[in-house]
Amino acid sequence: MTAPDRRAVATPPADSLLALVGGTPLIRLARSAPAAEVHAKLEYLNPGGSVKDRAALAMVLDAEESGALRPGGTIVEGTSGNTGLGLAQVAAARGYRSLFVLPDKTAVEKLDALKAYGAEIVLTPSALPREDPDHVIAYATRLAKETDGGWLADQYGNPANPDVHRRTTGPEIWEATGGRITHLVATIGTGGTITGTGQYLHEVSGGRVQVVGADPVTSAYGGGDGSPFAIEAAGHYIHPETATDVFPDVYRRDVIDRFLTIADRESILTARALARTEGLLVGGSSGTAAAAALRVAAEAGPDAVVVAILPDSGRAYLSKYHSDTWVRRQGFLDDDREGTLAGLVSDVVTVPVGTSVGEARSALESSGQPALPVVLAGRSSRFSPAAGEVLGLLSIADLAGPADAAVPVPSTPPVGIGSGETAAEALERLGPDAEVVHLVRDGRLAGVLTVGALRAQVG
Ligand code: PMP
Repeated sequence: MTAPDRRAVATPPADSLLALVGGTPLIRLARSAPAAEVHAKLEYLNPGGSVKDRAALAMVLDAEESGALRPGGTIVEGTSGNTGLGLAQVAAARGYRSLFVLPDKTAVEKLDALKAYGAEIVLTPSALPREDPDHVIAYATRLAKETDGGWLADQYGNPANPDVHRRTTGPEIWEATGGRITHLVATIGTGGTITGTGQYLHEVSGGRVQVVGADPVTSAYGGGDGSPFAIEAAGHYIHPETATDVFPDVYRRDVIDRFLTIADRESILTARALARTEGLLVGGSSGTAAAAALRVAAEAGPDAVVVAILPDSGRAYLSKYHSDTWVRRQGFLDDDREGTLAGLVSDVVTVPVGTSVGEARSALESSGQPALPVVLAGRSSRFSPAAGEVLGLLSIADLAGPADAAVPVPSTPPVGIGSGETAAEALERLGPDAEVVHLVRDGRLAGVLTVGALRAQVG
């Protein structure tokens, strides 16, 4: 007997792919949470591949209506990827030019997808303070002004972003659960999704639905120190030289009843587990949301109906979260086999960029380390220097200059080795000239060791 084909339902043709934005399904995470009711809202089934299709389409339609975007105009935005994809898709389908400013660390798959839609791209350094004129948002704002017929979508300040979630995402979830939802779990990038969806669900349930913000541990939204984290497109990082930090205008803190902070390791391993146990290939922020939803369900008991919004697909992150090599080199997976470098993890003395040579020399000498990492952290940064990105490794020979000069910073950051690698794997990819390397665990600096010490591990 063959299984009945439950999908054999004719759907009339759509006039435009834009008619297919939204209306995404919920799926129960039955294998991950067999004793609870946890549903995932699959936003990767939008035609552009993410939750941002909704905001992109809504912002463009709104700008057409107000006259801010005219026929033949250019859509400009600063975006880490998904909003760009949504806007590029709308631009192609409605005959606009599109121009995007992206941080240079954006996954290459996302850049290529934008180009495939015919979009033009400008890259800017990822690690810039907000006040810098080349910061993604400042740069995009300038480009929109300088471009004839340019219109800045401005997902961070455009009310059409949260509004579309109030009109669509919220009602879809309410209807799909027959009004039974008790908890909404979502990550926060611009805050559009959680703000709009949360506001609707609060209103319609008379305040019964709890809105849970799922946030990377160090993200500033959930009270973290703003230091770097590995989850793309969600959370709030604060560059150490940012003087006055602001949250996006569209984000409403008061809609969130509770934050759950999720370590990068848990987010990433959850995203990987969803692929293997549920057949859901999703991105890192989906891992953050799902991990938080599973925790909420475990706490709230069998009567809870938890809905997690999974913003995008794992297809864009095959070389990151879903790559065994990447997770081992970043030290997000280091306890699943014998012989990893996890046992070498140690505290590290570091200096922030701009430290004087004299100060660095005495720091290195008293540390007993084979080298001194210089990190992207300011003296006034909210996070401890060891949490900053490693810019260089300084040996005593690098610190031979005048004592009052600033420490030298190499033009390219050093290659680290991951706590999930074995010594043999790490050695194989280090060049013959390497003498000292830094160890990375959970995406962060977790040791400095000589290549000799690494060789000794191989035995
Ligand atoms: N996850 C991913 C992958 C995203 O692209 C975004 C959008 N930046 C978010 C989460 C957060 O969505 P929002 O901007 O609506 O807060």
